[in-house]
Amino acid sequence: MEYKSIAIDGPSGAGKSTMAKALAARLGFLYVDTGAIYRTLGLFARNSGADPGDWRQVEPLLAGVSIRMDYAGDGLQHMYLGDEDVTEAIRRPEISDAASKISAIPEVRTFLMEMQRDMARRHHVVMDGRDIGTVVLPEADLKIFLTASTQERARRRCAELQQRGTPVDYETVLADIIERDDRDSNRAAAPLRQAEDAIPVDTSGKSLEESLRILLQVVEERFS
Ligand code: C5P
Repeated sequence: MEYKSIAIDGPSGAGKSTMAKALAARLGFLYVDTGAIYRTLGLFARNSGADPGDWRQVEPLLAGVSIRMDYAGDGLQHMYLGDEDVTEAIRRPEISDAASKISAIPEVRTFLMEMQRDMARRHHVVMDGRDIGTVVLPEADLKIFLTASTQERARRRCAELQQRGTPVDYETVLADIIERDDRDSNRAAAPLRQAEDAIPVDTSGKSLEESLRILLQVVEERFS
């Protein structure tokens, strides 16, 4: 059976995970959050006492790490480090930073690539990340590049952290987003960029419902 894939890339806080999750639910596809995979490795590096930004310290860890994705139970993507469910732990702001640093290491990207491609070989997927349309699934049936202004992305991230019970002030979140954007866009290995055949969607000033309506229209046009 030929499986369909939708790639959603874009900077942090553009609404990728919310949109991808909603789209996947509407279409009956599996939602694959690839950032969660990088976050899990970032957590592992930190737990191991390694500097996630130093490839010399990270590379030797790869042979001994066990990262697993599982959808059993509630149908949501759970991340495991060994036997431990780290789905919540990887959402902490310091893990965002570790994930962004570790993801700039080419060996890390190669190491995690197969796990991502394997999901698309076995399921219809909506996969979100930074390099899905450009590197992981260059043959995706539909590619969307989701953006929003930096200020709006920072406001959304603040609201999300508040909801998770780990509030962080706006200025700190804004500075963190600017730093991560810069690192994600300017790294040598698979930098964040819009694939040539991706459809850009700017969600600035749009409600979730409005943004989802636009995406569903794009999907309908492509798959009808
Ligand atoms: O999407 P999320 O913010 O959870 O991703 C955490 C970090 O993982 C990002 O800042 C980015 O550096 C990295 N990442 C990546 N490639 C992906 C997904 C995430 O480099 N496909």
